[in-house]
Amino acid sequence: EEYLNRLRVTEPTIKSFLHVSENVMKEAEEIDLKIERNEELGVLAGVLIGVKDNICTVDMPSTGGSRILQDYRPAYDATAVKKLKESGAILVGKTNMDEFGMGSTTEASGYQVTANPWDVSRVPGGSSGGSAAAVSARQCVAALGSDTGGSVRQPASFCGVVGMKPTYGRVSRFGLMAYASSLDVIGCFGSSVADTAILLEAISGHDIFDATSSKREVPSFASQFISTELLESKPLKGLRVGIIGETLGDGVDKPVVSTIKAAASHLEELGCTVSEVSLPSFSLGLPAYYILASSESSSNLSRYDGVRYGNQAAAEELNSLHSDSRCNGFGPEVKMRILMGTYALSAGYYDAYYKRAQQIVILPSVLVRTLVQKSFKDALRENDILISPAAPSAAYKMGEKKNDPLAMYAGDIMTVNVNLAGLPALVLPCGFVEGGPAGLPIGLQMIGGQFDEGKLLRVGHIFE
Ligand code: GLN
Repeated sequence: EEYLNRLRVTEPTIKSFLHVSENVMKEAEEIDLKIERNEELGVLAGVLIGVKDNICTVDMPSTGGSRILQDYRPAYDATAVKKLKESGAILVGKTNMDEFGMGSTTEASGYQVTANPWDVSRVPGGSSGGSAAAVSARQCVAALGSDTGGSVRQPASFCGVVGMKPTYGRVSRFGLMAYASSLDVIGCFGSSVADTAILLEAISGHDIFDATSSKREVPSFASQFISTELLESKPLKGLRVGIIGETLGDGVDKPVVSTIKAAASHLEELGCTVSEVSLPSFSLGLPAYYILASSESSSNLSRYDGVRYGNQAAAEELNSLHSDSRCNGFGPEVKMRILMGTYALSAGYYDAYYKRAQQIVILPSVLVRTLVQKSFKDALRENDILISPAAPSAAYKMGEKKNDPLAMYAGDIMTVNVNLAGLPALVLPCGFVEGGPAGLPIGLQMIGGQFDEGKLLRVGHIFE
């Protein structure tokens, strides 16, 4: 009731939800009955969770933030949602997002613009801005998001909550609307690292419906937290932390840099050794990401043809049925990505465009991906974890970058490399910079080796 009340009061200004479930109290009463009957309860029994709208739910609409899927109701639950339900969670609703995950502010939603709870004239980040804002405004306990190039971590940083992008393959993508399949992961938001750890554990694991999901055993993330450790003066003694030099230079706001450096000193106080490390391929990540993500998305979005899902335009013949449905259904950012993607993949303009693009962009971008993986591997040989800002600035004003896509894309520089390498990364609040009525939160990004979520969560828990 407390959460629902807060939701009622804050939602008209924050606008984090595209749909709020009508069954919350009913499901809560069922849990009460279970308690009365001494029945076994799942680990998330009665816990209110928000779900990003690109994650399929049978009992609520799932639009991916797109008008092309307005009122669409999937025939099945995403595996992550099924697991949440099995753990007893109560789904509070579907959260707003940039259309199909394409954006960094949630302004590219086909429905509404979500406000940052720290300053409602600012963006919550994106594309999972609705989930981050909902957790930040305490409209729900925790939430699911998705992260293709930073969509969990950057909004977590902007909204002052914890965000976890797991290793590619840790969580099943079955029922997650595909943006760029080789980069997409479902991630978690919480207001503490412990909450985030419990949520991640509940949704992780192998799934026969997703061939890329890993068979690796899922450790009990939260039960690895040792409460006595928090009483020790140097609980992280011996942990080697590499601070990524390329993330503290030009283009990064000075107050962000000093907040991250202060966080590094805090890690030293906790017993870590912190040294600067270089990722030579760092700056190549962004252009490679935008080529790969646009190309994959242009192919993935071809399924929205007005026949199989969602909105269908009234048209006389098949070609205009396809084109009218897509023209009316997709928003401008999505159209731009489709154009960029089909352009980059286009064979028709081979000599003039594709050949040059292949030599200059496409081939190196495949290579870039290997280079990025290698430079992370090298850096993680000498360090247990790497740290960086989660974004080059704090949350900015609505509208500020809306008409400047390149400036918006540049803001993803801190996060996209991690997706190219498929690694896990945790973002947690580490300080504030000036701005808004009460200051603006800054997130610290901690990056680990493949399937090292447990280590990141333990370090994050001690850090916070
Ligand atoms: N902002 C990035 C993009 O627009 C990342 C989005 C995401 O992770 N879904 O592609």
